[in-house]
Amino acid sequence: MNFQTVIGLEIHVELNTKTKIFCGCKNEASREPNENICPTCMGYPGSLPRLNQKVVDYALKAAMGLNCEIQRSTHMDRKHYFYPDLPKGYQITQAAKPLGINGQLYLEKAKKTVRIQRIHMEEDTAKMMHRKESTEIDYNRSGVPLIEIVTAPDISNEKELLEFLEELKNLLSFFEISDLKMEEGSLRCDLNINVVDQDRDIKTPVMEVKNLNSFKGAVKACLYEQRRLLETLETGCELTKETRGWDQKKEETKTLRKKEDSLEYQYFIEPEILPLQLSEGKVRNTASRIPELPQKKRSRFKEQYDLPDYDVRILTKNPYVADFFEQTVLVCYAPKRISNWIMTQLLSEMPRGLEGFKELPLKPKDFGKLMALMEGGKIPKKVGEKILKEIIITGENPKRVLENRNLGPITDEQEIREIVKELINKHRKALQDYQKKPGKTINFFMGKGMERTGGRLDPCKLREAIKQELLLINQQKKEE
Ligand SMILES: [Zn+2]
Repeated sequence: MNFQTVIGLEIHVELNTKTKIFCGCKNEASREPNENICPTCMGYPGSLPRLNQKVVDYALKAAMGLNCEIQRSTHMDRKHYFYPDLPKGYQITQAAKPLGINGQLYLEKAKKTVRIQRIHMEEDTAKMMHRKESTEIDYNRSGVPLIEIVTAPDISNEKELLEFLEELKNLLSFFEISDLKMEEGSLRCDLNINVVDQDRDIKTPVMEVKNLNSFKGAVKACLYEQRRLLETLETGCELTKETRGWDQKKEETKTLRKKEDSLEYQYFIEPEILPLQLSEGKVRNTASRIPELPQKKRSRFKEQYDLPDYDVRILTKNPYVADFFEQTVLVCYAPKRISNWIMTQLLSEMPRGLEGFKELPLKPKDFGKLMALMEGGKIPKKVGEKILKEIIITGENPKRVLENRNLGPITDEQEIREIVKELINKHRKALQDYQKKPGKTINFFMGKGMERTGGRLDPCKLREAIKQELLLINQQKKEE
């Protein structure tokens, strides 16, 4: 069968404004349920919502970053439905005139443009927690600002799906408008998927898959649903349009709602919030504050620093890493070495990985000084690693650490000689092979010497000292 999979996405992004979208309640994760609430976000009659202008700013940035046309004159709508997580009985959203339309995001690996149909602002609902015999509701999330991004059905397989999600997250991270944590729900994605049999010109109905809480989960759900839809196409089974949920434990999708229960929302313009008029100046001002975005940054990094694609991708994953790299290069121009150290030594010390760069105590100017010490041959890599382990936590100047911790190179010949003697005494067995394979024995003690001093010995002087010491022992043996 010659088939094609058709995928469109609806993505909800929680914005990290200080307060909620229509009231002054704090917009933050709280320890207690129902702590950050007021009459407005609880939907009490008579409480008047006011649109948080920061939400408009953030949404505008995202829409511009995704190359959308901005609708300068727009408004909020009421979307009616009944569900316990929605205290007012309606959600304030944008239906008829979203803030941004007709955008696009280019996928470099797939060499494909995915169209963005719309971006709009809306309020989040409360959070429901289903227990064994009851359901609890936490209204802290009620009224948290969201943007919803809706793509055209331009994605054709799980690889493109993953690339789109990664690219979108990468792009949004440059605006610093959201935490973008899929596991914690600040980035949520619903999949609309169907399969078309091109030979017979028939297609399955569109399935909406919800509850995807990781990129991996989205890919698995996509493959699962694709397989399920293909089977029904082959067997000729009848399907109806459904909303399905991804069960990450069982790794399968299951029915949440059939089409016949699909809802009529009875949209109308929200009468309590003034229509929104975006002035030419505001739009221009926001446009001028759009930072250099990942795709542009990637091609510049490649050209300017002559780095491989792999390095460039990692260094531009978020704005903090990219800035950290560039600031370090200003102190010590060794782009490839710096890139290697960021990707290996630095990242392996950071529990939160790339995300941790935002609050890293180590400043790029000090990291640059450390790189310069190695670049100038003042310290070997092993010592560099030791210093890094310290300054990554303390943010200290690496030169000071080097002076204070006795980490500098050992060049004193007498001292080296003593170390060698001690090592030979400790490893007498290694002397047995000396006559047959002198090189091997010397290398053995070279390794031990470096190991013992954390790579601080001058290698030439060390080799010389080992040779002399071995020679001496040999002579003594002969005399005996
Ligand atoms: Zn409130």
